[in-house]
Amino acid sequence: MANYKARGIILRRDNFGEADRLVTLYTNRFGKITLLAKGTRRPTAKLTGTVNLFNEIDLVAAESRSIDILVEAQIVVLRDKLSSDLTKAKAAYWVCELVDKLVQDNEAHIELYNLIHNILNAITQRNSDLVLSYFIFQCLNELGYRPELKHCAVCGKALTPPAKMYFSPVAGGIVSTCCIGTSGRPINPDTIKAMRFLDAPFGQAIKLKLPANIQKELHTHLKDFSEYIGQKKIRSEEL
Ligand SMILES: [Zn+2]
Repeated sequence: MANYKARGIILRRDNFGEADRLVTLYTNRFGKITLLAKGTRRPTAKLTGTVNLFNEIDLVAAESRSIDILVEAQIVVLRDKLSSDLTKAKAAYWVCELVDKLVQDNEAHIELYNLIHNILNAITQRNSDLVLSYFIFQCLNELGYRPELKHCAVCGKALTPPAKMYFSPVAGGIVSTCCIGTSGRPINPDTIKAMRFLDAPFGQAIKLKLPANIQKELHTHLKDFSEYIGQKKIRSEEL
């Protein structure tokens, strides 16, 4: 059976058998894949130390009847500094968990690959809650779940500010009083503005200065939306 190459970011590791690990990566060529990394729970194995969370590696994998095997791995970006800083690690876990839960295996999407790469670099350098909010918004956007923020997500009417607004994951964005049912939660107009701003290029969006309550609300609504899309709870939230 054939070998193949890719560049990948390590999203997740699970113990497997006595000494092995399953390593889940988001790769440039194949999207999300899971490989068997033999012996990597032993400190002496060749690949131990390489297949750590958040690292970016150039890999060679061998096709197999069951799980493909990681044969070679070379570090392209070492991100061990992320793991040693609790706040940064939490944000990086969030990024990796979200990708793992939202994307299917073997669907290549190079824009998403670049987004994960850039965000993990940004978290390493200047982490903030806004960086994570930006990632969640952009990740949903890349996967085709861009929230509707300019019109009522149910009836399509333009949103007019004095009316009360709600954010509804089920409807896919902002819902106004015209259509509010049971699913939406109130959202501050300033939070809607902030969410719209996340559509800007990273360098611009990151300059936004948000009061703590707006940042918190922004995160909560984006989290709720991504959990609704993935139909799974984000566990990193509780770390
Ligand atoms: Zn409506």
